[in-house]
Amino acid sequence: MKKICIYLNEYPASIEVAKELEERFHALGIETVRHDINSNAIFEGQVDFNIVVGGDGTFLKAVTLSNYSKKPFIGINTGGLGFFQEVKRHELASLVHHITVDKYTTNPTRLLKCTAYRTDGSSVEYLCVNEVLVKGLNSKVLHMDVMIGDNFLERFSGDGLIISTSIGSTAYNFSVGGAIVYPAFEIMQLSPLAPISSASYRSLLNSVVMPGRFEVILSPETKYEKGIMIVQDGTEHLIENIDRIVTTMSDVFINRLHIDEDSYWSNLRDKFI
Ligand code: NAP
Repeated sequence: MKKICIYLNEYPASIEVAKELEERFHALGIETVRHDINSNAIFEGQVDFNIVVGGDGTFLKAVTLSNYSKKPFIGINTGGLGFFQEVKRHELASLVHHITVDKYTTNPTRLLKCTAYRTDGSSVEYLCVNEVLVKGLNSKVLHMDVMIGDNFLERFSGDGLIISTSIGSTAYNFSVGGAIVYPAFEIMQLSPLAPISSASYRSLLNSVVMPGRFEVILSPETKYEKGIMIVQDGTEHLIENIDRIVTTMSDVFINRLHIDEDSYWSNLRDKFI
């Protein structure tokens, strides 16, 4: 017997879709439970599938509120861009059928792990689906050394640096001129945000793509004692007395459910061109 959690935002279209899904699943004797993403509460129950109704922002939040559930995730777009949200509103019957007869594939998607170390040795860790952005406070230029493992890459000066996953490559990374990366590649993409390249400061102007097993170590100048901002999938965290920020792919992954494996390219075309 399957049990399904439906994560949804507050929009009327999402509530309607959730209701229709519940009716369709209940008619087949399949149990459902709703979880409002605005509750900000971790969903504690045990389910077999996670269906997310909303946009990409809802998807990102549902992943966190599921406590990084290993059960398959699939999204239904009810507004916004909805790049993660593979299923369209008129395809609910088909989705219910595919789940009921177990006709789907799942792809593991590894999350990014960003650890911020303070000067007193304490640290805080963030998991990201899309990206981590490191930027200064109050629109100040951020200067920091960038190491890839033991190798010094550059002294960056600019608004900030984005380190994105492949599935995050179509999000903020894309808006700053980064490359779109097919989700099967387990990579990290380092993209500069308004880098300064002048006689005084010289920063890479383009993105760098590297294997996910590497570590990106950012060491901001010591003058940021009031803190710098770490933005985890759109959520800001102010870190005071920062020493360094280490980002690499984590051991944590989620499984994304696909009904049509080939939909990536048509989705990309429909949403971006
Ligand atoms: P948000 O309003 O939830 O999202 C901003 C836009 O990014 C929305 O249109 C969202 O789609 C889209 N988006 C999110 N993840 C995506 C992905 N993997 N591929 C393609 N588009 C994606 O904003 P937020 O709460 O501040 O942050 C959530 C995410 O938004 C962040 O992880 C960041 O990547 C992105 N963001 C982008 C910019 C930018 O492009 N200049 C600025 C800030 C944040 P929906 O409309 O379907 O929700």
